[in-house]
Amino acid sequence: MNSVIHLENISKSYFSGEVETAVISNFSWKFPKGCFSILAGPSGSGKSTLLNIMGTLDSPTSGKYLLNQKVIDFSNSNILTQTRKEHFGFIFQSFNLIPVLSALENVELPLTLLDLTSAQRREMAIIALKSVGLEHRMNNRPGQMSGGEQQRVAIARAIARKPEVVFADEPTASLDKVNAIKIIELMKNLNSITGISFIIASHDEKVINEGNEIILIGEKQEA
Ligand code: ADP
Ligand code: MG
Repeated sequence: MNSVIHLENISKSYFSGEVETAVISNFSWKFPKGCFSILAGPSGSGKSTLLNIMGTLDSPTSGKYLLNQKVIDFSNSNILTQTRKEHFGFIFQSFNLIPVLSALENVELPLTLLDLTSAQRREMAIIALKSVGLEHRMNNRPGQMSGGEQQRVAIARAIARKPEVVFADEPTASLDKVNAIKIIELMKNLNSITGISFIIASHDEKVINEGNEIILIGEKQEA
């Protein structure tokens, strides 16, 4: 089985003066291509830390990270930026949309990093917004949309460039129960239609129950 992401003995510690606090200790996992994987565990267990390392937004203290069987060099920030641009999309708990831009402009924005014409960007953004069922809301700004709709815009933004992996950190935590279920079902549906891998950090039962694999992150060891 080919893995999209393979972690080998990943550890992460924070240092405060002389005191070292281990957040992740020797974590190993192979995420299969096209996975719908949930990182579950209580608050403070290191889910966001691990997700940020996989998204190359943070670096491990030690361990090996392979993306498509190639080792990621965390000391080379240009390669990390390039890796995120080419392979990854991100979804956050608080949507992180730009309030003064329309839904369409929010989805288009990260596409400006790619070598595309404005017409191509617009077409990709419209396709992504259609795939999350928001073609009728494209010209609305985030403040004119419900939380569930805003998260759908954020999902469209994450998938518009057809990344290989989408990382979602507590994507339902700001939503009510009905919208949380709609959002997780939408992500699952996009996963099966597009084959994009989804790796989701969550402690929400509704999300965890939908995982094709559930990876339990251990509770933090108290010093
Ligand atoms: P989760 O997402 O599961 O709630 P986090 O990955 O956010 O957990 O945090 C895991 C632990 O690491 C927490 O105890 C947190 O306080 C600690 N931590 C996270 N980021 C930092 C940081 N930049 N400096 C020091 N400690 C941190
Ligand atoms: Mg977290």
